[in-house]
Amino acid sequence: MTKRVYNFSPGPAVLPVAALEEARRDLLALPGVGVSVLELSHRSKPFTEIIEAAEANLRRLLGIPESHAVLFLQGGAQLQFAMAPMNLLGGKSADYILTGNWGKKAMAEAKTQGRVRAAFDAAGTNYNRTPAAGEPDLDPKAAYVYVTSNETIQGVQFPAEPEVGDVPLVCDASSDILCRPVAIERYGILFACAQKNLGPAGVTVVIIRRDLLGRCPAGLPSMLHYGKLAEAKSLLNTPSCFAVYFVKLVTDWLLAEFGGLDKVHEFNRRKSQLLYDVIDASGGFYPGHAEKGCRSIMNVPFRLPSDELTAKFLKEAEQHDLAFLKGHRSVGGCRASIYNAMPIEGVEALTEFMRDFQEKNG
Ligand SMILES: *Cc1c(COP(=O)(O)O)cnc(C)c1O
Repeated sequence: MTKRVYNFSPGPAVLPVAALEEARRDLLALPGVGVSVLELSHRSKPFTEIIEAAEANLRRLLGIPESHAVLFLQGGAQLQFAMAPMNLLGGKSADYILTGNWGKKAMAEAKTQGRVRAAFDAAGTNYNRTPAAGEPDLDPKAAYVYVTSNETIQGVQFPAEPEVGDVPLVCDASSDILCRPVAIERYGILFACAQKNLGPAGVTVVIIRRDLLGRCPAGLPSMLHYGKLAEAKSLLNTPSCFAVYFVKLVTDWLLAEFGGLDKVHEFNRRKSQLLYDVIDASGGFYPGHAEKGCRSIMNVPFRLPSDELTAKFLKEAEQHDLAFLKGHRSVGGCRASIYNAMPIEGVEALTEFMRDFQEKNG
């Protein structure tokens, strides 16, 4: 078999080997069905069972109550940047809490649909923190408050849901869904593209409070109308069948391997702490980005003393089978994305390499 390296890519990202193996095993024919999931009608009974099982797994892991619908949509996380305002603004204004690139992009996209304002913007400290309690200047009449629970590029993660009163909370959880338990009943919408922590690219999970479905304007195209999509149980058109199937495999794996998100959280905290320990003990050789109270357990950016050393680090890391560690240009340096499927051995190999590299080059 071709060798697998440790994949620190921010996305599409590492997937659980157990899920990949199951998909490979059943690629030619699903047991008891006799055709591949790639060849199966989305209206067939076997596919109905697959999409219902994926939803049931998500409901179980996240504790999603009946008050919330679960949708499997296309268009990626970024279509949600437009769909949320399109469906929820209703002539009102929305508040955005900006803690990094994705939130800024979401607000720019929402502006194409109506009035939005930044209730908090961490630009002054180069997006290295989440707001303190009470710090956002929230409008109690806003249509919704928008947050990015984990800013993938900056490695800034909300330690808990921000307090937003009675205004619906809309959250982009693309890079941290299922990394820890959340108070799901506090969200109006929580959405996530699949290619970080859920499966392959092509499907976006949207968890939406059912009472908000009544707000969607009748004039919207059906494919952009949450209410119509929910009514059709995500089958208004052909969904991304293979990606939905894979979300089922990944969530099956989480349930079998961890049982629940408390254990997943513990695992992710352990992995990220290994990296932050090296960063903190490096005496400034590997400066991190986020403030300590909001450091991400999914994406860990760090820099090196010079561009030359960064290039050397990335090249030698690759020779050690530690792949795709290059950081985003807006933060620079390196970034280790350590989603649920990253084994602890991968993080241990990286931290050992980092210590060794500093010793030789520091
Ligand atoms: C990756 C990412 C996106 C972009 O997702 P697409 O599916 O490519 O649109 C949006 N938000 C966050 C937080 C991300 O990590």
